[in-house]
Amino acid sequence: MAGDTLRISNARLLFPGSGFGTGSVVVRDGRITAVGDVTAVPGEADENVDAGEALLTPGLVDLHTHGIERYRYDAGPGELRAAADRLAAYGCTCALPTLIGRREERFVAFVAEMAGALDGVTSASLPGLHLEGPFMARTGAGCETVPGDPGFVRELLAAAGGRLRVMSVSPEVGNILPVIELLVAEGVVPFLTHTGAGVAETQRALAAGARHATHFYDVFYAPPETDLGVRPVGCVEAILADPRASVDFICDGVHVDPVAIRMGLRCKGWEQVAMITDSNIGAGLPAGEYATPWGFRIRVAPETAARILPPHPLAGALAGSALTANRGMANLHAWFGGEYPAELLWALGTCNPARLANLPAKGVLQVGADADLVLWNDDFTPAATWVGGRRVFG
Ligand SMILES: [Zn+2]
Repeated sequence: MAGDTLRISNARLLFPGSGFGTGSVVVRDGRITAVGDVTAVPGEADENVDAGEALLTPGLVDLHTHGIERYRYDAGPGELRAAADRLAAYGCTCALPTLIGRREERFVAFVAEMAGALDGVTSASLPGLHLEGPFMARTGAGCETVPGDPGFVRELLAAAGGRLRVMSVSPEVGNILPVIELLVAEGVVPFLTHTGAGVAETQRALAAGARHATHFYDVFYAPPETDLGVRPVGCVEAILADPRASVDFICDGVHVDPVAIRMGLRCKGWEQVAMITDSNIGAGLPAGEYATPWGFRIRVAPETAARILPPHPLAGALAGSALTANRGMANLHAWFGGEYPAELLWALGTCNPARLANLPAKGVLQVGADADLVLWNDDFTPAATWVGGRRVFG
């Protein structure tokens, strides 16, 4: 009989959303085969770990990340692998590499290349790609808005070979409803974002099957005031008011004020809120100034943000998120630990994002789940990380 591949004993176990326990986790062939009070005589395992009563959780799941440290996924398969190799050090075991979508034939070939590269990665679980665009309304200076094109989506679906997991779109883009319906029918999760849509447009997108808003509040614009003193409502209120809709937040305290996250938690309930990093070049790096592939330099202040340096005309502006998954989880505990039990805050980074992206084997500590595990130090740094039962950090 084949032995267990991993046995972690004497751990404080986190069951996201439900509570804590003590005991062991046993892993065979990449999956959890026993958890909790494992009373059987300890069997032979390839790796035996005494957790010393440290906290063991499912690994963090990041649905929206562009890169980390000096690597960005958009740069190609080499940097995709390099970035994935760094995730475990931050307690992230599962991520959707997020690419900026472009309405170009060569982008279809790029998606095929990147989807093909996912399978070769073993240092993190990368179950699919997240395409942010090209059907987005408020992408920033110089980016044109491309109308919804189901034919182009079909090309991307074919190129990705089942590895397209999420596509971010805006409700007010022309012809977006057939795109949302096609994505849902094909098992791709549409995320709403980069939008200044009104209430009716947002409600139509929700009726078409969109259920989630990503980096909610960040790049979600309010409509203009039409009557003096009458506070306008738009996409933000339409999403907060719709019980079907879930949201995720960049939990760095910079891209969105924690009070908006608190409002999301109060409106939606903890089950409908997830944490993302939206991380990019600079995330995880020590404080300092760094060159970027975009032709300008950035100043990274760890645990807050990366900002553009002079002489760029946008000097001082945010240059993307410098958040790491473990730091986001630490922030949530610091902000809301007095209001919400820890097992609910952990859910925001584990089972909630997994459920929102249809990844039922991720983010949970139960028999049959993928053995993506993190043993934590007291300061929200990982002591050890396993992906599919194989140690990848610590
Ligand atoms: Zn974005």
